[in-house]
Amino acid sequence: MRKFVRVPVPSTLKSRGITAVQMNHGISAKKRLGENHEEKHQTDDGRIPPEILGDGGGSMISGGSALSAHVVEPSSRHTVLDSVDVLVVGGGPAGIGAALGAARAGANTLLIENHAFFGGTASWALGMGMNQMRPSGQPRSVVHEHLIRCIAAYGDQAIRFGRHSVHCNVEYLKLAVMDALDEVGAKYLVRIQAVDAIVEVNRVLGVVVATKRGLMDMLAKAVVDCTGDADVAFFAGAETMTEPTMLMPMTLSLALTNIDAAKVKPADLKAAILAAQPKHPLTPSVFIEVQQIAQSRSWYINHSGTADLGRIDATDPVERSKAECFSRRQAYDMVRSLNESDNPALREIEWVASGPQCSVRETRRVKGVYILTEDDARAGRAFKDTIAWRSGYVDLGGEKGEDRYGQMMMIHDVPFTSILPEKIDGLLIGGRCISTTHVAAGAGKSIGNCMATGHAAGVACALSARKGILPREINVSELQDKLRDDNVNLEIKDREQKTP
Ligand SMILES: Cc1cc2nc3c(=O)[nH]c(=O)nc-3n(C[C@H](O)[C@H](O)[C@H](O)COP(=O)(O)OP(=O)(O)OC[C@H]3O[C@@H](n4cnc5c(N)ncnc54)[C@H](O)[C@@H]3O)c2cc1C
Repeated sequence: MRKFVRVPVPSTLKSRGITAVQMNHGISAKKRLGENHEEKHQTDDGRIPPEILGDGGGSMISGGSALSAHVVEPSSRHTVLDSVDVLVVGGGPAGIGAALGAARAGANTLLIENHAFFGGTASWALGMGMNQMRPSGQPRSVVHEHLIRCIAAYGDQAIRFGRHSVHCNVEYLKLAVMDALDEVGAKYLVRIQAVDAIVEVNRVLGVVVATKRGLMDMLAKAVVDCTGDADVAFFAGAETMTEPTMLMPMTLSLALTNIDAAKVKPADLKAAILAAQPKHPLTPSVFIEVQQIAQSRSWYINHSGTADLGRIDATDPVERSKAECFSRRQAYDMVRSLNESDNPALREIEWVASGPQCSVRETRRVKGVYILTEDDARAGRAFKDTIAWRSGYVDLGGEKGEDRYGQMMMIHDVPFTSILPEKIDGLLIGGRCISTTHVAAGAGKSIGNCMATGHAAGVACALSARKGILPREINVSELQDKLRDDNVNLEIKDREQKTP
């Protein structure tokens, strides 16, 4: 975490909004939400009452004047690469939703991404169905539809529609994300990794990024952590949660071509890999899923990856390295299982790609003001401060010894308090690292759901930046109205619970 000293604001910098806030630690009362999950999270004017805001809720702007009182300057400076209203860190599904949402809401928005392209796991997995993008075939928001429209613009090779999912060729997805960001005027930078948080007291003011020119600073009025691993929150000193006994496995996906669909079916590949397990013991034992890539003649394999290795923490450099290297050998064993098969059509199959890295299902989750639970998901719980909803399945991704794979859940709300870190300000969370339990993380990790929480976080940060207040202080009713304007249906009574 970077430390700061306060200096008076030069007038030329005031307009950048890089300002200190007066901290009032008087508001520290904290209350876990009780049994009644429908209980009021908001006052009648839409604000979250201070007693449930958590310790970080102590940052107060006094009459807006504090926003022009000071500028924070790094005690050891890096070059400031940019200074924006809303900085979104991580360009996976959540980050895409956040950047589109914030830019559409009028914020000067910058999305930064560690890889050289966007999409996160949706791209690394080489063709997976982006689930819950259109539950029951119905559009779920303007940002989801915007991305779908941009992918579909590349034609039939780019996209195939399922019941609730969008199966895309990831090469077109990578282009489509940039197209969508360009259309809403969001800025973006790739090959930029956030390696630290810039924090004053308990407010995030930006991140330190690693570049080929060394470390640089990115400053923002509000930051959305969409890193999947809660990197920004962790660097900022926010409390994060990690399942101590087991984490959902990582997976290196494979893309295969030279497939004669008249002669082989996905089930044939799965059967051949499982049958060859005694000879090729690295192959995954829990599940193997084979699907067509968009409408092409190529298929991809998703599977339970590192499940047989036990608990692997992708944020641990040594464990991560072990998992990545193991997974490349595992992929080779899967291909050998096909190519050594008795079935000539399987022997013809060629391995053309694997993901640029293992796709990660679960690492750290931020401890928010409210922790969403499996029970919330299974009961289809509603929250007054809902800002998104999640649909689909409870699915622990092939975690060993778990039978919770593909079990249908109820459509349930995500409250604002689950994207709001308990103790750190200036920061909201989107995607797979929002505040949930381990199983509830598995219940909401579908791409459409991650995009939805990112979208809400992006719009919320845009609101906070425009008003010069902390994300924690925004009027949640106003946020809900903005999300409704973006075609998000927050009315639980309208939901069809039976179809994903
Ligand atoms: C193997 C596998 C298969 C899956 N199958 C499906 C499926 O079929 N359908 C479905 O809907 N969902 C599926 N999921 C779940 C879904 O893909 C994820 O839950 C979802 O992508 C999470 O979105 P996210 O944006 O929160 O995180 P991620 O997709 O992990 O994206 C995070 C992004 O942040 C970037 N980043 C991370 N740290 C930093 C940093 N410090 N600085 C800058 N950038 C950073 C990463 O490079 C990445 O682009 C699968 C997941 C896995 C792992």
